[in-house]
Parts: sequence; structure tokens; C-alpha cells
Amino acid sequence: MEDCIFCKIVDKKIPAGVVYEDDKVLAFNDIHPVAPVHVLIIPKIHIANVQALNSENAAVLADIHLAAQKIAEKLGVAQSGYRLINNCGEGAGQTVFHLHYHLIGGTNLGAKLI
Ligand code: AMP
Ligand code: ZN
Repeated sequence: MEDCIFCKIVDKKIPAGVVYEDDKVLAFNDIHPVAPVHVLIIPKIHIANVQALNSENAAVLADIHLAAQKIAEKLGVAQSGYRLINNCGEGAGQTVFHLHYHLIGGTNLGAKLI
């Protein structure tokens, strides 16, 4: 989608620190990491957020989770633990309107959700 920064990363028009890629999913380091491991996992197709999922495109959720497994192994947090976070909508802090999951780890995250 034009004017979508994450679509531009998918199209390699903007550089990113790619940590994983397959035909459905791309994952890259967040530019403002909040933990030693902070990766964004996105579908290659443009979906604005969870509210824009439907039965036609929801298979990307499985792809994202399977990618998360591989990324966690690769970056050494599969055993220590990690959190997958999705912000849906402005009120939840979503700033980029292309579906993405934050994979955060490499530190003790504790049990607090917010
Ligand atoms: P959210 O607030 O859930 O929409 O998360 C958007 C995330 O995208 C933020 O953590 C930003 O730091 C990150 N971000 C924005 N632009 C880029 C970029 N060009 N490359 C990597 N991460 C980015
Ligand atoms: Zn997009």
C-alpha cells in the first residue's frame, strides 16, 4: 500500500535490519528497541490491524506465530522467554497501521501486562 512505511520495508524501498523472511512474513529490528531483543513481525500483505483481519487473510496469524518461533530460536530467547505484543488502534498505541507483532525478550519481562 502506498504511503505505508512497512509496505516500503517489504518492498525494500526503506532499509531495515531484517532478522527473518519467508514468502508470507518479514521480521526486522524495531528502530526504538525497548529490550535487548525487539523485533517486529509483519505480514507481507498490507493489513491495517487486527480489526482488518477476515477469513480470507487471517492465515497470516499462523505464519506470524511460526515465524516468531524461529526468530526466538535464532535470537536466543526461545528458552528464556519472550512476549508477543499487538497494539490495535490509536488508543492502544498503534502508530503504524500495518499489522505487526512486537517480539520482545532478552530481559526479565516480569508478569505485568501494562
Ligand atoms: P506500534 O506503536 O505498535 O504501532 O509500533 C510501531 C513500531 O514501529 C514502533 O515500536 C516503532 O519504533 C517502529 N518503527 C517505526 N518505523 C520503523 C522503521 N522504519 N523501522 C523499524 N521500526 C520502526
Ligand atoms: Zn502496509
